[in-house]
Amino acid sequence: MKRFLIVLIYVLLATHYVDGQEVVRIGAFNHYPAIFKDVDGEIKGFYVDALREIELKENLKFIYVFGSWNEGLERIKNEEIDIMVSVAYTEERATYMDYCSSPLLTVWGEVYVDDSSDIDGIQDLQDKRIAVMKEDINAWCIKDLIRKFSIDCTFVEEDDFDQVFNLVASSKVDAGVVNNTFGAGKSREYGLRSSGIVFHPFDIFFTVKKNTHPDLLELLNNSLQDWKYKSTSVFNTSRQKWSHGKVDSIQVSPSWLKETTVLVIIVLILLILFIVLLRFKISVATRKVKKSEEKLSRALIAAPFPIMIHAEDGEVISINETWTELTGYSLEDIPTFSDWKERAFRQERPNGKRHIDELYLFNSKMEEGEYKVFTSWGEKVVWDFISAPLGSFEDGRKLIISIAKDVTERKLNEVELIQAKEKAEKSDALKSAFLANMSHEIRTPMNGILGFADLLKEPQLNSEEQQKYIQIIEKSGVRMLNIINDIIDISKIESGLMEMNIKESNINKQIEYIYTFFKPEVEAKNMRFTFNTPLPLEEAIIKTDREKLFAVLTNLVKNAIKYSEKGFIDIGYVKTGKHMEFYVKDTGIGIEKDRQQAIFKRFVQADISDKEARQGAGLGLAISKAYVEMLGGKFWVESEIDKGSTFYFTVPCELELKETTIASTELADGELDSQIRNLNILVAEDNEESALLLSILLKRNCDKISYVKNGYEAVEFCHNNPDVDMVFMDVKMPQMDGYEATQKLRQFNKDIVIISQTAFGLAGDKEKAIEAGCNGYISKPINKRELMILIERYFGHKKELHSELVEND
Ligand code: ADP
Repeated sequence: MKRFLIVLIYVLLATHYVDGQEVVRIGAFNHYPAIFKDVDGEIKGFYVDALREIELKENLKFIYVFGSWNEGLERIKNEEIDIMVSVAYTEERATYMDYCSSPLLTVWGEVYVDDSSDIDGIQDLQDKRIAVMKEDINAWCIKDLIRKFSIDCTFVEEDDFDQVFNLVASSKVDAGVVNNTFGAGKSREYGLRSSGIVFHPFDIFFTVKKNTHPDLLELLNNSLQDWKYKSTSVFNTSRQKWSHGKVDSIQVSPSWLKETTVLVIIVLILLILFIVLLRFKISVATRKVKKSEEKLSRALIAAPFPIMIHAEDGEVISINETWTELTGYSLEDIPTFSDWKERAFRQERPNGKRHIDELYLFNSKMEEGEYKVFTSWGEKVVWDFISAPLGSFEDGRKLIISIAKDVTERKLNEVELIQAKEKAEKSDALKSAFLANMSHEIRTPMNGILGFADLLKEPQLNSEEQQKYIQIIEKSGVRMLNIINDIIDISKIESGLMEMNIKESNINKQIEYIYTFFKPEVEAKNMRFTFNTPLPLEEAIIKTDREKLFAVLTNLVKNAIKYSEKGFIDIGYVKTGKHMEFYVKDTGIGIEKDRQQAIFKRFVQADISDKEARQGAGLGLAISKAYVEMLGGKFWVESEIDKGSTFYFTVPCELELKETTIASTELADGELDSQIRNLNILVAEDNEESALLLSILLKRNCDKISYVKNGYEAVEFCHNNPDVDMVFMDVKMPQMDGYEATQKLRQFNKDIVIISQTAFGLAGDKEKAIEAGCNGYISKPINKRELMILIERYFGHKKELHSELVEND
């Protein structure tokens, strides 16, 4: 009855429906990962996941009845459950269960041991304690195997595989037998390893209670067919999940791997941080570099000196604006260094390329040098280059920077300076020689003057001797005066102060005058003197500085007389177009060819030793040549030794300069005696001789002549004697000089005629005297003719003389 009731309950349960769902009881036991009871009490595993699909699809309700494997078998025998899982086939089991036709899995038995165990093969199981699951086919098989190998060992039976692993992990046994799926899934959790002893592969199946659920059996069969052949089926994916996670990604990770991984991750993070920081720094630095590059390139472009950057293959990378400005070449004109050299150096190419090549070779070297450079407009300038390596271009080519400085002006100055220095040295030497000669020239007449003046003191001299001595003194004086005049003239020429005085002049009259003047002297030497004036008198008028023309002709005639002893002297001119060509020919000693140029040079003359030792400072021809050149003409000589010389010079017929008063120089000496009489004259002069000379010269023209020795006395005298007509005021006097005295005098007497007299004979004296209040000016030694002109000017009516004086003083 009781048995009947139990069967009834189970039948009822078997056909029991919950919420319209048929309930199916499944035997569950710990068979990880296929099916097991988790710590939360839930039955899990990949069988559960797969069966859930059937559950949902077929609207069934699966209930898991948990127990040991053995209990499971007992329950299905007793129809307490409908389905049993993981059942290996045995004939005995087939008596109470129907097996699915398709196995769930093929599994095998495997012996697991503790990690530290030395069991490596079946023989190692000798005398060991081995845990197995009760009624497990693997337990049967290992026992059979052990027996076959005649190994002695002890078996400990447990209810499920978990308990088996527990015993092994807690070292209560030496090894444990489980099937491979459980071992693979759980060995790591228990800290166990496979011993490598595997045996007896066999299939395991779903089973249902014999002859009770054919429809359920079919359902399971169909589902298994579907699942097993589809890799994405719930059966396969869930098995992967519970067994090993994804099979593909099962990785053996040694203990150090985790630490290494962490370390690697930290290093990676640090590396990433470092890279980010580095990138940031690089971008900041790049920006800075770009900015400074921009600044640099702006500076290069705007630099006030020429800059070129060129590469080792000859390409000119850039030139700045100054380069183009100074040379006229743009980058298009000189794309390569050879183009630049071609244009800038033309035929005079320096060996710059070799030097530049060396620069590329020796990275730190610098190259500098001065080169002549042709600009695009053909000008030649001098550039001082400095070239140096400039690192590499983006494409790796080495670069050179060349900076230049335009030193053309400095170069010119240097050349000029050298020339000036040479000239100064030369002129210094010449001047020294000139001075030595000059000293001789001055000493000679001085000797004559002083010597014969001394002789004159002799009381027993007769009048003939006295006259002779006086003549010698006179001649020496004239000679000295000539020398001094020459020095003053050459100084004026040298300093550019010689003035021009252009007037109409009758050259016939000038030549005739010179002829008349020198005729006695020439004839005294038993020589003939001729002149040639081809133009009629009224046509022989040219516009020139007649004083200078006169001086040149006179000088040439004087030389001709001086350097000739026989034969003749001929003076004249011919008209050649717009010029008059004058000549003075003699048959004298002649001039050596190599001296014919030198005789015209200022100061050069003096260093030519004059074999004939004729008197002369050697300045006459230099002055004459300078005069002729000032007048716009040329001067040359044709001469042969011992045959004679002909000096030629030309002057333009019309010298287009400011015309001044026309006057005549062709006055005879006799006409110069002024007819003015009865003048009251004061001579202010500290030098007694000069005062005496003046008084003698003025004797005929004055009624009364008085003397004072300084400016102060002169002012006082005039103040006390308002009837004084004229004062000859020496500028250099003690106490009060002539300029100051004149100024004082003018304060109370505006009408009195004051003529300043100076011995300096320099430019500026006249202006200074006029400025002080003088009417006129006369230079010492006083020339009688000039003195008479002055008298006439202020007290007479001879207009020609007056005019001439205006120009001459
Ligand atoms: P100097 O006062 O010495 O005559 P010049 O300058 O007039 O100076 O002449 C320079 C030199 O030229 C003379 O020293 C002389 O050697 C030479 N010379 C000038 N004129 C003649 C000439 N007519 N015949 C030969 N030599 C002359």
